[in-house]
Amino acid sequence: MAISVTFVPFKNRLTMAYIEPAPIVDKENPFEAMMSRFHTAAQILGLEEQVYNVLKSPAKQVTVSLPVTMDDGTIKVFEGYRVIHSTILGPSKGGIRFDPEVNIDEVKALAAWMTWKCAVVDIPYGGAKGGVACQPREMSAGEIERLMRAYTQAMSDVFGPDQDIPAPDMGTGPREMAWLMDQYSRNKGMTVSAVVTGKPIVMGGSLGRTEATGRGVMVTALAAMEKLKINPFKATCAVQGFGNVGSWAAQLLEDRGLKILSISDVSGAYFNDHGIDIQDALKYRDAHKGSLEGYKGAEKITNEELLTLPVDLLVPAAKEDVITHLNAPKIQAKLIVEGANGPTSSKADGIIYEKGISVVPDILANAGGVTVSYFEWVQNRLGYKWTAERVNRRSDRIMKDAFDNVYRVSNEYKVSMRIAAYMVAIDKVAKTYKFRGGF
Ligand code: NAD
Repeated sequence: MAISVTFVPFKNRLTMAYIEPAPIVDKENPFEAMMSRFHTAAQILGLEEQVYNVLKSPAKQVTVSLPVTMDDGTIKVFEGYRVIHSTILGPSKGGIRFDPEVNIDEVKALAAWMTWKCAVVDIPYGGAKGGVACQPREMSAGEIERLMRAYTQAMSDVFGPDQDIPAPDMGTGPREMAWLMDQYSRNKGMTVSAVVTGKPIVMGGSLGRTEATGRGVMVTALAAMEKLKINPFKATCAVQGFGNVGSWAAQLLEDRGLKILSISDVSGAYFNDHGIDIQDALKYRDAHKGSLEGYKGAEKITNEELLTLPVDLLVPAAKEDVITHLNAPKIQAKLIVEGANGPTSSKADGIIYEKGISVVPDILANAGGVTVSYFEWVQNRLGYKWTAERVNRRSDRIMKDAFDNVYRVSNEYKVSMRIAAYMVAIDKVAKTYKFRGGF
């Protein structure tokens, strides 16, 4: 049996007739968008049908019922999920989402996304995702703790530092990861720090994790600007979203010489032709319950207007599906670096490509977070703590190498960097699968 997946030349990609064309739907969710790109990249790679089927099917899906005693003494049963999409490259990695909308289909898609993200930055992990359908904002800390412990208990055979390593996602954070680590460790009768990442720093979390995703956005943006011959000291930028990813990306890009003309959050967007002072905006946000509402250092515009400003660099770092076929024709940026997951619909891809706008795609641009999570796991296993300087240096190198690799494939095959990123990821997982062999 042949054991290599070879890139099929670009001109031959349409000969791969066994795969139906990806459906284009009018209102797509980010997961449909992701599957459509997976499909295109698989076609260009000339992936055999059976390998295509292996890679798109999750390896394991677990659904559990979690009875939890609420503060009023009643027992409520929550539904929890963990989907392991792939362990071909290594133990699976992916966050746990506490949100009322959580369902098995969403978790399945998010798990596949993690497989591609880890593969594109070449870290030795497969992909997974977990979730519990619940509304954490309406629950007390005690109720959330009992739910997290019940979930961990139910998943005690699934999780493990060599098997499946969870992390925070929407609705969970370091506090919940601490409970998970404690519950898992009690079961094992010993402290197992490396079972989960995103822990508080004092109990084995990594320095540099908070800023890691924004930092990866900065590193890949500068690498792309170098290729496009955009001088950062003369470049302008707009950043949508001023939470963890957006505010760190804005700070670090400003530090590297860019003028940040606009920032935004859910309250609206803020524009200043002379550049926004990001430290000033951060101070304002932190003094106003995390919101930019009422910020005086800039004129107020809409989030939609921010996306179409005449800037060199646009960083969508808020939410999914904000760049669509409706506003893509109006985008004026030369470069888009996707801090958020799924900010661009697949229908917008073609319009942006035709306009000659370069896009550093989400699975590459925001992979700095999972990279430093990997470093947290490495440090826990070594029983050693790295300095922030070492974490940053190593994650910068991983992000830059991943960018260079994706850029090379995109040039070689004359495809967008998004399709190139999927090609790199799928090729790596498919090759490893073939070397390992199956039943
Ligand atoms: P966050 O909650 O810290 O910040 C989100 C920001 O977006 C806030 O400023 C919020 O006000 C703003 N926002 C929300 N809805 C908006 C809207 N409709 N219009 C404009 N702004 C809006 O979240 P985050 O951790 O910064 O994550 C942002 C994105 O990056 C998400 O897509 C997330 O999945 C992705 N991401 C995050 C990480 C990470 O390490 N935090 C890693 C990879 C990807």
